[in-house]
Amino acid sequence: MVLAELGGCISNALRKLNNSSVIDKKELGKCLNEITHALRDADVNFEFINRHINNIKNNINFDHLSEGLNKRKIIEQAVFNELCSLLNSEKPSFTPRKGKPSIVMFVGLQGSGKTTTCTKYARHHKKNGWNPALICADTFRAGAFDQLKQNATKAKIPLYGSYTELDPVKVAVEGVERLKKEVYDLIIIDTSGRHKQEASLFEEMRQLEQATKPDVVIFVMDSSIGQSAFDQAQAFKQSVDVGAVIITKLDGHAKGGGALSAVAATDSPVIFIGTGEHMDDFEEFNTQSFVLRLLGMSDLPGFMKKINGVVISKDEKSKQAQDLSKGKFTFRMMYEQLQNILNMGPMSPLLSMLPGFKSDFMPKTKEKDAQAKIKRYMTILDSMTNKELDCKKDMCKSRIMRVARGVGLQVKEVTKLLEEYKRLAKMFSKVKTLNTPHMLKRMGG
Ligand code: GDP
Repeated sequence: MVLAELGGCISNALRKLNNSSVIDKKELGKCLNEITHALRDADVNFEFINRHINNIKNNINFDHLSEGLNKRKIIEQAVFNELCSLLNSEKPSFTPRKGKPSIVMFVGLQGSGKTTTCTKYARHHKKNGWNPALICADTFRAGAFDQLKQNATKAKIPLYGSYTELDPVKVAVEGVERLKKEVYDLIIIDTSGRHKQEASLFEEMRQLEQATKPDVVIFVMDSSIGQSAFDQAQAFKQSVDVGAVIITKLDGHAKGGGALSAVAATDSPVIFIGTGEHMDDFEEFNTQSFVLRLLGMSDLPGFMKKINGVVISKDEKSKQAQDLSKGKFTFRMMYEQLQNILNMGPMSPLLSMLPGFKSDFMPKTKEKDAQAKIKRYMTILDSMTNKELDCKKDMCKSRIMRVARGVGLQVKEVTKLLEEYKRLAKMFSKVKTLNTPHMLKRMGG
């Protein structure tokens, strides 16, 4: 059962209460049974479910509820609170400090999205005023350093690593020392994974933790792994002092429930969620917003935050205006503007955060095509060199072919992007005042 379905089933169970003429223990029992089944189908750990369902039962005492009270609302509120507490950990959420370098170590199985998430995490903090740097301590998987290097370059985050050193502890310790001297205030260590839980992996994590003394260990978990989530999270927790969880791939057909169990297993808060392969598909986790959306209720604060998040800062705006007034519209600027549009995310989830709107108000296929087109353009731009990104001249044929080969697309796709770029450059050369996100939004159509 995917996460959206889980929300649907729980809301359904609650809605049925509206059809009952009397709300009593029996009706509550039926409703909670349905919720239990829904959570089980979504792979939430059994013990965990029982504990929380019992809490709801204990919190609603029919003998003490006086006549005239809205029992349905009280049950709804109790379920909402319990779903929030299911996701909340007693432990405070980790935030890096200013002034003193914070060391953050990422752990997780191979394929969980650890390397991608390290860069997303660095990028998120860079946007919010930190000065992050990455260390590749994954000496186990061939190509790990190159992968992180590619991501770090795209996100413009400095990286420390080695092609030749095989000891991950040595790389991590040297990296931390070097980056501390270079006054980075957020040092992020990407560690190696394995396809399955292995003693050697846990031993390596223990040694890395001892040697680098991280301020927090973040456990990265793929949301689609099902019932094994609890055991996997617990195994990591028993080896290292996990202090926070990031759940990835919540965009796909993920059985998110399994990953919710990770909260119980590690007793650590979820701090972010990964919602796609792109660097910007990363959201700060807010329990109440998440549960509201899960149950199809409105999330006005989430909506406002998302909208505000795409407003371009004053400094950025004036720099863009200056560049444009000099007739300078580069591929890099095009990339940044496409990113602004993507930061807004698809409109349907945005609308679904508002009361009275349903996601089917938006023609989904058209929106999907537009998003896919923007992402395709960004992938092409990603494979250009820095020199090409900052250049405002046309690209020669051999470069076009190289870029197309680099992203595995046909030359005509790259040519289409160049045409779009020219059209925009021409348009911007005539424009004195900026409203770029608005103009570029038209590209998706
Ligand atoms: P690692 O082995 O744990 O370092 O995992 P990677 O970072 O290499 O990610 C494995 C795959 O998952 C890659 O193809 C990523 O692009 C993809 N991935 C990572 N995070 C997400 C996410 O939030 N959503 C989706 N759809 N894919 C993701």
